[in-house]
Amino acid sequence: MHIIMLGAPGAGKGTQADILSQEMKLPHIASGDLLRRALEERTDIGLRAESYMDKGELVPDELTITMILERIHRADCARGCIFDGFPRTLHQAEVLEKALGEQGKTIDRAIYLEVPDEELVKRLSGRRLCRTCQTPYHVIGSPPKTPGKCDRCAGVLYQRSDDREETVRGRLAVFCAQTAPVLDYYENQGKLVRINGDLGIEGVAREIVSALKAPTSP
Ligand code: AMP
Repeated sequence: MHIIMLGAPGAGKGTQADILSQEMKLPHIASGDLLRRALEERTDIGLRAESYMDKGELVPDELTITMILERIHRADCARGCIFDGFPRTLHQAEVLEKALGEQGKTIDRAIYLEVPDEELVKRLSGRRLCRTCQTPYHVIGSPPKTPGKCDRCAGVLYQRSDDREETVRGRLAVFCAQTAPVLDYYENQGKLVRINGDLGIEGVAREIVSALKAPTSP
């Protein structure tokens, strides 16, 4: 089973992909996390991606595609995976379909989490992440028990440089301009499922599970 989580930055793709990944025992492949790790490790892809990520712009397709194709060819993806943050352009979607097709596989569902822009800005500008295990927190909505420390692993919490308000607004504009065609692409294939992403974490997770049980439209 190959599932794609789509949605603007802050829509909850990472959180929901994590839940699904645990329930379905499939790897969670987050392109943003892979890029941030590549940057920390100072790899060629990481260094070439850095300036785009800082500005909240999309990293060139050739970098993200190389990275994702390498990832999906690993053994743990044999039964499928949950994509989070990829594809973000029509070209990425087409290359992914071709690469999966060569292995006799396909995308089963694309889940689009819909959240109003103002809510996204609130979520992202208050978001803090664990530097060690990436668990997300929110300064108001879901603060950690000890300020600045992860409840799960005691790692240090930080704010992503691209979660500052002006960059967030730019990232939302990028989503509208470049990722909207990806929604149309999966809609035309009858694979797009729209989910209200403003129902709380558990509410959204329930909606996703029931959508995955429903048959796809032809
Ligand atoms: P995310 O963690 O998904 O919000 O991604 C953080 C940043 O990584 C984005 O603002 C982009 O600069 C870059 N990025 C992540 N995934 C992609 C992708 N599929 N295509 C291009 N850039 C990406």
